[in-house]
Amino acid sequence: MLKLYNTATREKEVFVPLEPGRVRIYSCGPTVHNYAHIGNFRAFLLADLLKRYLRFSGLEVKHVMNITDIDDKILRRISAEDRSLADLTQQYSEVFFQDLASLNIIPAEVYPRATAHIPEMVGLISRLLERGLAYQREGSVYFSISRFPEYGRFARLDTTGMRDGVSVDNDEYDKDHVRDFALWKGWVESDGEVCWDAPFGRGRPGWHLECSCMSMKYLGESFDIHTGAVDLIFPHHQNEIAQSEGATGKPFVRYWVHNEFLNINAEKMSKSQGNFYLLQDIGKRTEDLMAYRYLVVTSHHRTVLNFTFEGLESSRAALRRLTQLREKLLSATGAPTGGDWPAWADQALTEFRAHMDDDLNTPRAIAAIFGLVNQAEKAFNLGELGKSGAGVVLDFLEQVDRVLGIFGQAEAAPSRPPELPVELASLLEARQQARLAKDWKKSDELRDQLAAAGVVVKDTKVGYDWTWA
Ligand code: AMP
Ligand code: ZN
Repeated sequence: MLKLYNTATREKEVFVPLEPGRVRIYSCGPTVHNYAHIGNFRAFLLADLLKRYLRFSGLEVKHVMNITDIDDKILRRISAEDRSLADLTQQYSEVFFQDLASLNIIPAEVYPRATAHIPEMVGLISRLLERGLAYQREGSVYFSISRFPEYGRFARLDTTGMRDGVSVDNDEYDKDHVRDFALWKGWVESDGEVCWDAPFGRGRPGWHLECSCMSMKYLGESFDIHTGAVDLIFPHHQNEIAQSEGATGKPFVRYWVHNEFLNINAEKMSKSQGNFYLLQDIGKRTEDLMAYRYLVVTSHHRTVLNFTFEGLESSRAALRRLTQLREKLLSATGAPTGGDWPAWADQALTEFRAHMDDDLNTPRAIAAIFGLVNQAEKAFNLGELGKSGAGVVLDFLEQVDRVLGIFGQAEAAPSRPPELPVELASLLEARQQARLAKDWKKSDELRDQLAAAGVVVKDTKVGYDWTWA
Protein backbone atom coordinates (compact mmCIF):
# COMPACT_ATOMS: atom_id res chain seq x y z
CA MET A 1 0.00 0.00 0.00
CA LEU A 2 1.65 3.19 -1.21
CA LYS A 3 1.85 6.09 1.20
CA LEU A 4 2.77 9.56 -0.01
CA TYR A 5 3.66 12.63 1.99
CA ASN A 6 0.95 15.10 1.06
CA THR A 7 1.92 18.76 1.36
CA ALA A 8 -1.77 19.65 1.73
CA THR A 9 -1.99 17.82 5.08
CA ARG A 10 1.74 17.68 5.96
CA GLU A 11 1.28 13.95 6.57
CA LYS A 12 2.03 10.65 4.91
CA GLU A 13 -1.25 9.33 3.59
CA VAL A 14 -2.32 6.09 1.96
CA PHE A 15 -2.67 6.75 -1.75
CA VAL A 16 -6.12 5.95 -3.13
CA PRO A 17 -6.85 7.15 -6.68
CA LEU A 18 -10.15 8.84 -7.40
CA GLU A 19 -10.91 6.28 -10.08
CA PRO A 20 -9.98 2.68 -9.16
CA GLY A 21 -6.92 1.52 -11.08
CA ARG A 22 -6.28 4.85 -12.84
CA VAL A 23 -4.14 7.76 -11.68
CA ARG A 24 -4.14 11.29 -13.06
CA ILE A 25 -1.00 13.34 -12.46
CA TYR A 26 -0.07 16.90 -13.34
CA SER A 27 3.46 18.26 -13.09
CA CYS A 28 4.54 21.86 -13.40
CA GLY A 29 6.80 21.78 -16.41
CA PRO A 30 9.63 24.00 -17.59
CA THR A 31 9.54 27.65 -18.50
CA VAL A 32 11.13 27.50 -21.93
CA HIS A 33 13.13 30.71 -21.85
CA ASN A 34 16.51 29.06 -21.42
CA TYR A 35 18.17 25.67 -20.89
CA ALA A 36 16.84 23.75 -17.89
CA HIS A 37 19.55 23.24 -15.25
CA ILE A 38 20.19 19.98 -13.41
CA GLY A 39 18.20 21.26 -10.39
CA ASN A 40 15.11 21.58 -12.58
CA PHE A 41 15.58 17.97 -13.62
CA ARG A 42 15.27 16.89 -10.01
CA ALA A 43 11.61 17.94 -10.23
CA PHE A 44 11.06 16.09 -13.52
CA LEU A 45 12.85 12.98 -12.23
CA LEU A 46 10.58 12.86 -9.20
CA ALA A 47 7.53 12.88 -11.48
CA ASP A 48 9.11 10.12 -13.56
CA LEU A 49 9.94 7.96 -10.53
CA LEU A 50 6.45 8.35 -9.10
CA LYS A 51 4.84 7.53 -12.41
CA ARG A 52 7.06 4.49 -12.94
CA TYR A 53 6.32 3.18 -9.45
CA LEU A 54 2.57 3.60 -9.89
CA ARG A 55 2.76 1.67 -13.16
CA PHE A 56 4.95 -0.97 -11.56
CA SER A 57 2.23 -1.31 -8.90
CA GLY A 58 -0.30 -2.12 -11.63
CA LEU A 59 -1.99 1.24 -11.99
CA GLU A 60 -2.71 3.03 -15.24
CA VAL A 61 -1.28 6.55 -15.27
CA LYS A 62 -2.19 9.61 -17.29
CA HIS A 63 0.50 12.24 -16.88
CA VAL A 64 0.29 15.83 -18.05
CA MET A 65 3.21 18.26 -17.92
CA ASN A 66 2.75 21.80 -19.13
CA ILE A 67 5.19 23.87 -21.09
CA THR A 68 5.19 27.47 -19.89
CA ASP A 69 5.76 29.38 -23.09
CA ILE A 70 4.48 32.75 -21.93
CA ASP A 71 5.35 34.47 -18.66
CA ASP A 72 7.27 37.45 -17.27
CA LYS A 73 10.68 35.74 -17.69
CA ILE A 74 10.03 34.84 -21.33
CA LEU A 75 8.96 38.38 -22.15
CA ARG A 76 12.10 39.79 -20.57
CA ARG A 77 14.21 37.39 -22.55
CA ILE A 78 12.65 38.00 -25.97
CA SER A 79 12.95 41.70 -25.50
CA ALA A 80 16.62 41.39 -24.42
CA GLU A 81 17.41 39.15 -27.40
CA ASP A 82 15.04 40.81 -29.86
CA ARG A 83 13.51 37.50 -30.89
CA SER A 84 9.96 36.34 -31.43
CA LEU A 85 8.17 34.40 -28.72
CA ALA A 86 7.66 31.39 -30.99
CA ASP A 87 11.30 31.33 -32.04
CA LEU A 88 12.63 31.39 -28.48
CA THR A 89 10.18 28.93 -26.95
CA GLN A 90 10.44 26.50 -29.86
CA GLN A 91 14.22 26.33 -29.47
CA TYR A 92 14.17 25.62 -25.75
CA SER A 93 11.24 23.20 -25.87
CA GLU A 94 13.15 21.11 -28.37
CA VAL A 95 16.20 21.04 -26.11
CA PHE A 96 14.00 20.17 -23.16
CA PHE A 97 12.51 17.13 -24.89
CA GLN A 98 15.97 15.92 -25.90
CA ASP A 99 17.14 16.30 -22.30
CA LEU A 100 14.17 14.32 -20.99
CA ALA A 101 14.93 11.50 -23.39
CA SER A 102 18.62 11.51 -22.50
CA LEU A 103 17.67 11.04 -18.82
CA ASN A 104 15.46 8.09 -19.73
CA ILE A 105 12.36 9.95 -18.57
CA ILE A 106 9.13 8.40 -19.84
CA PRO A 107 7.22 11.02 -21.85
CA ALA A 108 4.00 12.43 -20.44
CA GLU A 109 0.82 11.71 -22.36
CA VAL A 110 0.24 15.42 -22.96
CA TYR A 111 2.60 18.42 -22.96
CA PRO A 112 0.16 21.32 -23.28
CA ARG A 113 1.63 24.69 -24.13
CA ALA A 114 0.17 27.74 -22.46
CA THR A 115 -0.16 29.80 -25.64
CA ALA A 116 -2.30 27.08 -27.24
CA HIS A 117 -4.84 27.35 -24.42
CA ILE A 118 -5.66 31.05 -24.25
CA PRO A 119 -9.40 30.56 -24.97
CA GLU A 120 -9.70 28.14 -22.04
CA MET A 121 -7.84 30.60 -19.81
CA VAL A 122 -10.17 33.40 -20.81
CA GLY A 123 -13.07 31.06 -19.99
CA LEU A 124 -11.68 30.33 -16.54
CA ILE A 125 -11.21 34.02 -15.77
CA SER A 126 -14.78 34.70 -16.90
CA ARG A 127 -16.03 32.05 -14.47
CA LEU A 128 -14.09 33.66 -11.63
CA LEU A 129 -15.49 37.08 -12.54
CA GLU A 130 -19.03 35.66 -12.63
CA ARG A 131 -18.55 34.11 -9.21
CA GLY A 132 -17.33 37.39 -7.77
CA LEU A 133 -13.85 36.05 -7.02
CA ALA A 134 -12.04 38.31 -9.46
CA TYR A 135 -12.17 41.96 -10.42
CA GLN A 136 -10.95 44.13 -13.28
CA ARG A 137 -8.63 47.04 -12.83
CA GLU A 138 -6.94 49.09 -15.53
CA GLY A 139 -7.12 46.40 -18.18
CA SER A 140 -5.97 43.58 -15.88
CA VAL A 141 -7.95 41.04 -13.90
CA TYR A 142 -6.99 40.05 -10.34
CA PHE A 143 -8.02 37.23 -8.06
CA SER A 144 -9.53 38.62 -4.86
CA ILE A 145 -8.00 36.51 -2.11
CA SER A 146 -10.31 37.91 0.57
CA ARG A 147 -13.29 36.41 -1.31
CA PHE A 148 -11.79 32.93 -1.06
CA PRO A 149 -11.76 32.18 2.69
CA GLU A 150 -9.47 29.16 2.38
CA TYR A 151 -6.74 31.24 0.77
CA GLY A 152 -3.48 30.63 2.58
CA ARG A 153 -4.39 27.36 4.27
CA PHE A 154 -2.38 25.21 1.86
CA ALA A 155 0.79 27.32 2.09
CA ARG A 156 0.22 27.96 5.84
CA LEU A 157 0.08 31.71 5.44
CA ASP A 158 -1.01 34.17 8.03
CA THR A 159 -3.50 36.34 6.15
CA THR A 160 -4.81 38.28 9.15
CA GLY A 161 -4.43 41.98 8.67
CA MET A 162 -4.33 41.66 4.88
CA ARG A 163 -5.82 44.66 3.17
CA ASP A 164 -8.49 44.15 0.52
CA GLY A 165 -7.75 45.05 -3.06
CA VAL A 166 -3.97 45.35 -2.82
CA SER A 167 -2.61 43.61 -5.87
CA VAL A 168 0.65 42.34 -7.29
CA ASP A 169 1.49 42.17 -10.99
CA ASN A 170 4.59 39.97 -10.92
CA ASP A 171 4.17 36.22 -11.29
CA GLU A 172 6.74 35.56 -8.57
CA TYR A 173 6.67 37.16 -5.12
CA ASP A 174 7.40 36.10 -1.57
CA LYS A 175 5.30 35.47 1.50
CA ASP A 176 5.72 39.03 2.72
CA HIS A 177 3.84 40.14 -0.36
CA VAL A 178 0.68 38.07 -0.20
CA ARG A 179 -1.66 40.05 -2.46
CA ASP A 180 -4.43 39.77 -5.01
CA PHE A 181 -2.58 38.23 -7.91
CA ALA A 182 -2.96 38.79 -11.64
CA LEU A 183 -5.09 36.37 -13.67
CA TRP A 184 -4.86 38.48 -16.81
CA LYS A 185 -2.28 41.17 -17.39
CA GLY A 186 -3.43 44.09 -19.49
CA TRP A 187 -1.14 44.87 -22.42
CA VAL A 188 1.75 47.25 -21.77
CA GLU A 189 4.14 48.58 -24.35
CA SER A 190 6.99 46.31 -23.29
CA ASP A 191 4.82 43.27 -24.19
CA GLY A 192 5.21 44.26 -27.85
CA GLU A 193 3.31 41.89 -30.11
CA VAL A 194 2.75 39.29 -27.42
CA CYS A 195 -0.93 39.71 -26.60
CA TRP A 196 -4.33 38.18 -27.10
CA ASP A 197 -7.77 39.74 -27.28
CA ALA A 198 -10.16 38.97 -24.45
CA PRO A 199 -13.53 40.37 -23.34
CA PHE A 200 -11.72 42.18 -20.53
CA GLY A 201 -9.15 43.72 -22.85
CA ARG A 202 -6.02 42.84 -24.77
CA GLY A 203 -3.32 41.19 -22.67
CA ARG A 204 -1.81 37.92 -21.58
CA PRO A 205 -2.47 35.29 -18.91
CA GLY A 206 -0.80 35.18 -15.49
CA TRP A 207 1.51 32.22 -14.94
CA HIS A 208 -0.54 30.66 -12.11
CA LEU A 209 -3.65 30.59 -14.24
CA GLU A 210 -1.93 28.58 -16.95
CA CYS A 211 -1.49 25.52 -14.74
CA SER A 212 -5.05 25.60 -13.31
CA CYS A 213 -6.42 25.73 -16.78
CA MET A 214 -4.29 23.09 -18.48
CA SER A 215 -4.43 20.60 -15.62
CA MET A 216 -8.22 20.72 -15.44
CA LYS A 217 -8.60 20.60 -19.21
CA TYR A 218 -6.69 17.33 -19.54
CA LEU A 219 -7.30 15.67 -16.17
CA GLY A 220 -10.71 16.93 -15.05
CA GLU A 221 -11.70 19.42 -12.36
CA SER A 222 -10.54 17.04 -9.60
CA PHE A 223 -7.55 14.79 -10.05
CA ASP A 224 -5.11 12.70 -8.03
CA ILE A 225 -1.57 14.06 -7.85
CA HIS A 226 0.17 17.36 -8.56
CA THR A 227 3.98 17.56 -8.46
CA GLY A 228 6.59 20.31 -8.41
CA ALA A 229 9.49 21.57 -6.34
CA VAL A 230 8.96 23.10 -2.88
CA ASP A 231 9.47 26.65 -4.16
CA LEU A 232 6.18 26.32 -5.99
CA ILE A 233 4.10 25.75 -2.84
CA PHE A 234 3.77 29.51 -2.52
CA PRO A 235 2.54 31.40 -4.45
CA HIS A 236 2.13 29.14 -7.49
CA HIS A 237 0.33 26.13 -6.05
CA GLN A 238 -1.60 28.13 -3.48
CA ASN A 239 -2.87 30.29 -6.34
CA GLU A 240 -3.68 27.30 -8.54
CA ILE A 241 -5.88 25.94 -5.73
CA ALA A 242 -7.64 29.27 -5.26
CA GLN A 243 -8.33 29.70 -8.99
CA SER A 244 -9.44 26.13 -9.61
CA GLU A 245 -11.55 25.57 -6.52
CA GLY A 246 -12.88 29.12 -6.75
CA ALA A 247 -14.13 28.47 -10.28
CA THR A 248 -15.44 24.92 -9.88
CA GLY A 249 -16.42 24.72 -6.23
CA LYS A 250 -14.81 21.25 -6.21
CA PRO A 251 -11.64 19.95 -4.55
CA PHE A 252 -8.81 20.43 -7.06
CA VAL A 253 -6.02 17.98 -6.17
CA ARG A 254 -5.94 15.06 -3.72
CA TYR A 255 -2.18 14.67 -3.15
CA TRP A 256 0.49 17.33 -3.53
CA VAL A 257 3.96 15.84 -3.90
CA HIS A 258 6.91 18.24 -3.73
CA ASN A 259 10.62 17.67 -4.14
CA GLU A 260 13.26 19.49 -2.13
CA PHE A 261 15.95 21.46 -3.86
CA LEU A 262 19.12 20.39 -5.47
CA ASN A 263 21.70 22.66 -3.87
CA ILE A 264 25.20 23.59 -4.72
CA ASN A 265 27.52 24.81 -1.94
CA ALA A 266 24.50 24.79 0.38
CA GLU A 267 22.54 27.16 -1.87
CA LYS A 268 19.63 26.44 -4.18
CA MET A 269 20.86 25.88 -7.71
CA SER A 270 19.22 28.58 -9.79
CA LYS A 271 19.71 30.53 -12.95
CA SER A 272 19.19 33.85 -11.23
CA GLN A 273 22.10 33.13 -8.84
CA GLY A 274 24.28 31.91 -11.69
CA ASN A 275 25.30 28.81 -9.67
CA PHE A 276 24.03 26.12 -12.00
CA TYR A 277 25.15 23.25 -14.19
CA LEU A 278 23.43 22.12 -17.35
CA LEU A 279 23.13 18.47 -18.31
CA GLN A 280 25.92 18.92 -20.83
CA ASP A 281 28.23 19.89 -17.94
CA ILE A 282 27.64 16.45 -16.45
CA GLY A 283 28.68 14.73 -19.63
CA LYS A 284 27.35 13.55 -22.94
CA ARG A 285 27.68 9.79 -22.63
CA THR A 286 24.73 7.70 -21.49
CA GLU A 287 26.87 6.54 -18.57
CA ASP A 288 27.34 10.12 -17.30
CA LEU A 289 23.67 10.96 -17.60
CA MET A 290 22.59 7.72 -15.96
CA ALA A 291 24.99 8.43 -13.08
CA TYR A 292 23.18 11.73 -12.60
CA ARG A 293 19.82 10.00 -12.81
CA TYR A 294 21.04 7.43 -10.25
CA LEU A 295 22.21 10.18 -7.89
CA VAL A 296 18.85 11.93 -7.98
CA VAL A 297 16.50 8.96 -7.92
CA THR A 298 18.34 7.24 -5.07
CA SER A 299 18.23 10.38 -2.90
CA HIS A 300 14.95 10.85 -1.09
CA HIS A 301 12.89 13.53 -2.82
CA ARG A 302 12.05 15.26 0.46
CA THR A 303 15.63 15.84 1.53
CA VAL A 304 17.87 18.53 0.12
CA LEU A 305 20.47 17.08 -2.22
CA ASN A 306 23.79 18.88 -2.20
CA PHE A 307 25.27 18.35 -5.64
CA THR A 308 29.01 17.64 -5.87
CA PHE A 309 31.09 15.95 -8.55
CA GLU A 310 32.36 13.51 -5.87
CA GLY A 311 28.75 12.52 -5.17
CA LEU A 312 28.24 12.03 -8.88
CA GLU A 313 31.35 9.87 -9.00
CA SER A 314 30.06 7.61 -6.19
CA SER A 315 26.81 7.20 -8.08
CA ARG A 316 28.74 6.31 -11.21
CA ALA A 317 30.68 3.65 -9.25
CA ALA A 318 27.53 2.15 -7.70
CA LEU A 319 25.79 2.07 -11.03
CA ARG A 320 28.82 0.53 -12.71
CA ARG A 321 28.73 -2.26 -10.16
CA LEU A 322 25.16 -3.02 -11.08
CA THR A 323 25.76 -2.87 -14.82
CA GLN A 324 28.88 -5.03 -14.58
CA LEU A 325 27.02 -7.69 -12.64
CA ARG A 326 24.26 -7.51 -15.20
CA GLU A 327 26.68 -7.98 -18.07
CA LYS A 328 28.40 -10.93 -16.38
CA LEU A 329 25.07 -12.59 -15.71
CA LEU A 330 23.88 -11.96 -19.23
CA SER A 331 26.95 -13.59 -20.70
CA ALA A 332 26.57 -16.51 -18.29
CA THR A 333 22.88 -17.17 -18.89
CA GLY A 334 21.83 -15.35 -22.01
CA ALA A 335 18.49 -14.14 -20.63
CA PRO A 336 16.52 -13.39 -17.48
CA THR A 337 14.15 -16.15 -16.35
CA GLY A 338 10.60 -15.07 -16.69
CA GLY A 339 9.47 -17.81 -14.35
CA ASP A 340 9.29 -18.74 -10.69
CA TRP A 341 11.53 -17.04 -8.22
CA PRO A 342 13.11 -18.63 -5.16
CA ALA A 343 12.25 -17.16 -1.75
CA TRP A 344 15.44 -15.06 -1.47
CA ALA A 345 14.59 -13.12 -4.63
CA ASP A 346 10.93 -12.70 -3.68
CA GLN A 347 12.00 -11.41 -0.33
CA ALA A 348 14.35 -8.82 -1.81
CA LEU A 349 11.61 -7.56 -4.13
CA THR A 350 9.13 -7.46 -1.24
CA GLU A 351 11.61 -5.34 0.70
CA PHE A 352 12.16 -3.07 -2.30
CA ARG A 353 8.40 -2.56 -2.61
CA ALA A 354 7.94 -1.95 1.11
CA HIS A 355 10.47 0.90 1.01
CA MET A 356 9.04 2.38 -2.17
CA ASP A 357 5.56 2.18 -0.63
CA ASP A 358 6.89 4.28 2.23
CA ASP A 359 6.77 7.64 0.43
CA LEU A 360 9.16 6.45 -2.30
CA ASN A 361 11.99 5.79 0.12
CA THR A 362 14.59 5.12 -2.57
CA PRO A 363 17.70 5.22 -0.32
CA ARG A 364 16.32 2.17 1.51
CA ALA A 365 15.01 0.58 -1.66
CA ILE A 366 18.46 0.75 -3.26
CA ALA A 367 19.94 -0.76 -0.08
CA ALA A 368 17.56 -3.70 -0.50
CA ILE A 369 18.78 -4.09 -4.09
CA PHE A 370 22.40 -4.11 -2.98
CA GLY A 371 21.56 -6.70 -0.30
CA LEU A 372 20.71 -9.13 -3.08
CA VAL A 373 23.49 -7.91 -5.35
CA ASN A 374 26.14 -8.57 -2.67
CA GLN A 375 25.01 -12.14 -2.29
CA ALA A 376 24.72 -12.66 -6.03
CA GLU A 377 28.25 -11.34 -6.66
CA LYS A 378 29.68 -13.67 -4.01
CA ALA A 379 27.81 -16.68 -5.31
CA PHE A 380 28.74 -15.87 -8.89
CA ASN A 381 32.45 -15.54 -8.04
CA LEU A 382 32.35 -18.87 -6.22
CA GLY A 383 30.64 -20.46 -9.23
CA GLU A 384 27.63 -21.22 -7.04
CA LEU A 385 24.96 -19.07 -8.61
CA GLY A 386 24.12 -21.49 -11.41
CA LYS A 387 22.34 -20.66 -14.63
CA SER A 388 18.88 -20.43 -13.12
CA GLY A 389 20.13 -18.29 -10.18
CA ALA A 390 21.77 -15.93 -12.63
CA GLY A 391 18.54 -15.71 -14.61
CA VAL A 392 16.62 -14.85 -11.45
CA VAL A 393 19.03 -12.07 -10.48
CA LEU A 394 18.79 -10.65 -13.98
CA ASP A 395 15.03 -10.77 -13.76
CA PHE A 396 15.16 -9.01 -10.39
CA LEU A 397 17.37 -6.24 -11.78
CA GLU A 398 15.01 -5.78 -14.68
CA GLN A 399 12.02 -5.49 -12.39
CA VAL A 400 13.58 -2.85 -10.17
CA ASP A 401 14.82 -0.98 -13.21
CA ARG A 402 11.27 -0.55 -14.43
CA VAL A 403 11.02 1.80 -11.45
CA LEU A 404 14.48 3.36 -11.27
CA GLY A 405 15.23 3.53 -15.00
CA ILE A 406 18.98 3.60 -14.37
CA PHE A 407 20.12 1.12 -17.00
CA GLY A 408 19.13 3.52 -19.69
CA GLN A 409 16.63 1.69 -21.85
CA ALA A 410 13.44 3.68 -22.19
CA GLU A 411 10.27 1.87 -21.23
CA ALA A 412 7.71 1.17 -23.91
CA ALA A 413 6.16 4.26 -25.46
CA PRO A 414 3.12 5.63 -23.62
CA SER A 415 -0.08 3.82 -24.41
CA ARG A 416 -1.83 6.92 -25.77
CA PRO A 417 -0.29 9.34 -28.24
CA PRO A 418 0.04 12.91 -26.99
CA GLU A 419 -3.17 14.82 -27.56
CA LEU A 420 -1.31 17.48 -29.48
CA PRO A 421 2.33 16.85 -30.33
CA VAL A 422 4.64 19.79 -29.78
CA GLU A 423 5.42 20.21 -33.47
CA LEU A 424 1.73 20.69 -34.21
CA ALA A 425 1.27 22.99 -31.22
CA SER A 426 4.07 25.16 -32.52
CA LEU A 427 2.52 25.24 -36.01
CA LEU A 428 -0.72 26.40 -34.41
CA GLU A 429 1.14 29.11 -32.56
CA ALA A 430 3.09 30.15 -35.66
CA ARG A 431 -0.20 30.48 -37.51
CA GLN A 432 -1.60 32.64 -34.73
CA GLN A 433 1.49 34.86 -34.86
CA ALA A 434 1.10 35.13 -38.65
CA ARG A 435 -2.53 36.21 -38.19
CA LEU A 436 -1.54 38.81 -35.62
CA ALA A 437 0.98 40.11 -38.15
CA LYS A 438 -1.82 40.04 -40.77
CA ASP A 439 0.29 37.71 -42.93
CA TRP A 440 -2.74 35.90 -44.36
CA LYS A 441 -0.77 33.96 -46.94
CA LYS A 442 1.47 32.39 -44.31
CA SER A 443 -1.42 31.77 -41.97
CA ASP A 444 -3.32 29.93 -44.75
CA GLU A 445 -0.27 27.85 -45.58
CA LEU A 446 0.09 26.86 -41.94
CA ARG A 447 -3.61 26.03 -41.75
CA ASP A 448 -3.13 23.67 -44.73
CA GLN A 449 -0.12 22.04 -43.08
CA LEU A 450 -2.12 21.51 -39.90
CA ALA A 451 -5.04 20.09 -41.87
CA ALA A 452 -2.67 17.65 -43.54
CA ALA A 453 -1.64 16.47 -40.08
CA GLY A 454 -5.29 16.06 -39.09
CA VAL A 455 -5.74 19.25 -37.04
CA VAL A 456 -8.68 21.55 -37.75
CA VAL A 457 -8.17 25.13 -36.57
CA LYS A 458 -11.08 27.33 -35.62
CA ASP A 459 -10.63 31.04 -35.04
CA THR A 460 -12.55 32.42 -32.11
CA LYS A 461 -13.18 35.87 -30.69
CA VAL A 462 -10.36 35.44 -28.24
CA GLY A 463 -7.80 33.54 -30.31
CA TYR A 464 -8.17 30.08 -31.73
CA ASP A 465 -9.20 26.56 -30.88
CA TRP A 466 -8.47 23.24 -32.54
CA THR A 467 -9.89 19.73 -32.90
CA TRP A 468 -8.72 16.53 -34.51
CA ALA A 469 -10.23 16.10 -37.99
P1 AMP B 1 11.22 26.49 -14.15
O1 AMP B 1 11.70 26.03 -15.49
O2 AMP B 1 12.03 27.59 -13.55
O3 AMP B 1 9.73 26.86 -14.20
O4 AMP B 1 11.36 25.27 -13.12
C1 AMP B 1 10.97 23.97 -13.41
C2 AMP B 1 10.86 23.15 -12.13
O5 AMP B 1 12.14 22.99 -11.50
C3 AMP B 1 9.95 23.75 -11.06
O6 AMP B 1 9.17 22.69 -10.46
C4 AMP B 1 10.94 24.35 -10.09
O7 AMP B 1 10.39 24.56 -8.83
C5 AMP B 1 12.04 23.30 -10.10
N1 AMP B 1 13.35 23.75 -9.58
C6 AMP B 1 13.98 24.91 -9.84
N2 AMP B 1 15.18 24.98 -9.22
C7 AMP B 1 15.33 23.80 -8.55
C8 AMP B 1 16.38 23.24 -7.72
N3 AMP B 1 17.52 23.89 -7.48
N4 AMP B 1 16.18 22.02 -7.22
C9 AMP B 1 15.05 21.34 -7.48
N5 AMP B 1 14.04 21.78 -8.24
C10 AMP B 1 14.16 23.01 -8.79
ZN1 ZN C 1 2.60 25.12 -12.60
